[in-house]
Amino acid sequence: VHNHADEIAQMGKNALIVTGRNSSKKNGSLDDVINALKSKNIKYTVYDGVEENPSVETVMEAREIGVKAGCDFIIGIGGGSPMDAAKAIGVMIYYKNENKDFLYKSVSNSQSLPVIEVPTTCGTGSEVTTVAVLTVHNEKTKKSMSHRIFPRMALVDEKYIKNAPLKVICDTAIDALAHIVESCINNNATEYSKMFAKEGLEAWSKFKDVLLGNREATDEDFHNMMYASTLAGMCIAHAGTSLPHGLSYPITYELGIPHGKAVGYFLPGYINEATDEDKEFVLKAAGFETVEEFSKFYKKACGYEKFPQELLDKTGELILSNQRKLANCPYKVDAEVIKNIISF
Ligand code: NAP
Ligand code: ZN
Repeated sequence: VHNHADEIAQMGKNALIVTGRNSSKKNGSLDDVINALKSKNIKYTVYDGVEENPSVETVMEAREIGVKAGCDFIIGIGGGSPMDAAKAIGVMIYYKNENKDFLYKSVSNSQSLPVIEVPTTCGTGSEVTTVAVLTVHNEKTKKSMSHRIFPRMALVDEKYIKNAPLKVICDTAIDALAHIVESCINNNATEYSKMFAKEGLEAWSKFKDVLLGNREATDEDFHNMMYASTLAGMCIAHAGTSLPHGLSYPITYELGIPHGKAVGYFLPGYINEATDEDKEFVLKAAGFETVEEFSKFYKKACGYEKFPQELLDKTGELILSNQRKLANCPYKVDAEVIKNIISF
């Protein structure tokens, strides 16, 4: 952040900083951003009300604050929640006369205020994707907004995750792995996206012992965690996510299960249904012999709990009408396949 103060200053004259309630105040990221802005005499307003799995209501509240303060660019700081919210707030300030329904309206070539992202978890890769996932309370789930907004700048520094609890590291590192895996077992996978996937899986495999609590993380591990997460974001920016992400949203909504843990639950089953070639590609590069070995790893790293069968059945039924997620899956999906994935 410090090294890029000049480029930050070129984004506008008045920043809206969008962040969560606590962590960015403790890990140094908020201070770094404020100091960079002060050093260039850029005005700023801090909105620190972003909750986990940010809601449409939060986006609208921050929009009011940003419009009143005359903000002309956005800096998202935090995990995927503040970074996603930052993109949605950037859209809603740009279209300041639109109401909340605009978030889910199809518009060709949507615009936004310029967005800078500073990640402080090692999972979503939102700093390099166009996606913003929001909680839609009246539909009791989470959905990506319709607008596709690439951040203008991603300022990625592993120092911000060094004091994060192991639980946050585990949940978010599993999310990063899911991004890579879902981008490979995907109809949109290309040699190009697989190049990022391979590099990302290699970095990921180097710190996986840390996730099991077998050893303390080194500086190199923290670097690899952030690097794998950003590469994983680049993978889904190309190919998109598929069934595990789609299946996870009602689980997070209903039970408050962290995003990575909820997605990871469906990942072994998703891999198991893939062709031998796809299976081998992702398992080998991540350092697992079999899907069963990966399943055990997930259960230990994220703390296994069986989700209520009724909710699993409901999300299984819903995914069968989620055309976007189904279209990305390279194998034929029916109720039986979904049942196998859920019960793996
Ligand atoms: P998060 O919801 O942003 O944050 C989870 C928790 O971790 C919060 O309590 C947060 O505290 C805390 N935290 C953040 N950074 C920390 C740090 N360095 N040290 C200690 N605690 C820290 O978690 P996330 O998993 O990164 O993001 C999940 C969201 O991203 C979901 O809404 C998901 O749908 C979305 N997502 C988006 C994409 C995309 O492509 N855009 C991809 C995958 C997922 P504070 O609240 O105090 O900050
Ligand atoms: Zn994810």
